[in-house]
This record gives sequence, C-alpha cells and structure tokens, in this order.
Amino acid sequence: MSFDHILPVTNDRDTAGFFEACKNKTLVYRVCQSCNAALNPPRAHCGICGSWDTAWREANGRGRLYSWTTVCHQVHPAYRVPYTVVIVELEDAPEVRLVGQLNGSPDLRAGMAMQVWFETLGDGTVLPQWEPIEKTQQGKES
Ligand SMILES: [Zn+2]
Repeated sequence: MSFDHILPVTNDRDTAGFFEACKNKTLVYRVCQSCNAALNPPRAHCGICGSWDTAWREANGRGRLYSWTTVCHQVHPAYRVPYTVVIVELEDAPEVRLVGQLNGSPDLRAGMAMQVWFETLGDGTVLPQWEPIEKTQQGKES
C-alpha cells in the first residue's frame, strides 16, 4: 500500500508564485524591488523598508548545506526511514533557506555545494529538492 506525501498549500497568495515557478523547473525567491532585500518566507510587503513593490527573482539553483537531520523513527507512512531533512541556503541569497529531503543517511558536511532538482508529486505539485553536487560516500549514484 502506498501513501501520499503531505502536500503544501500551493494557492496561497504569498507562495503561489513559488510553486508555479517550480512547475516550470525554476527556483525563485521573493525580493523587495525598493531595497533589494530577500523576503523569506515570501511576502507581498517588505518588513525592512515598508515597500509593497516586491517580485519573484530567479535563483541559479545552487546552494550550500546549512544544516540537516536524519530521521530514523517513522512518523508518517509516506516517508520511509531513514531519510534526511536538509536546510539549504541559496547561493544567490544566503538569507533564503529552503528545506528538502534526501533518501537515506548520506554523508554530508556543513557548507557543501548543493543543486536543486524538482520532484513532481502525485497530484502534480512540484517541490524543489536538493542533492549534493560533490559525490558523497553514501551518495546517490547517477
Ligand atoms: Zn524593502
């Protein structure tokens, strides 16, 4: 028996553009057009300068591993253990940190280079995921 992943809300006014871009295999983050601040989580209003002039900016798809944890105790049938939850800061805007999931318990180290890829779930939702650019000891073979 298979179980579905927990799905994010993709039609929220603050995040819909992010998920629409993911469907086009593009990673974006929200920026303030007035002061150039990266707004994460994405918002229509800049909390730094007060501007409502915000927009999506395309990221280059690379990042650095900020932190991770390996889950060994299964908490949901759709998420087989072990898996590793990663937090990746974007190369373009390190203040933007995105979460992803790797299978197993790969050999990781803080600051390692990561590359985005896009996972399509059963309902068509597309999520950004991350994989190390460098080979790891238990890394994914490709
Ligand atoms: Zn601003």
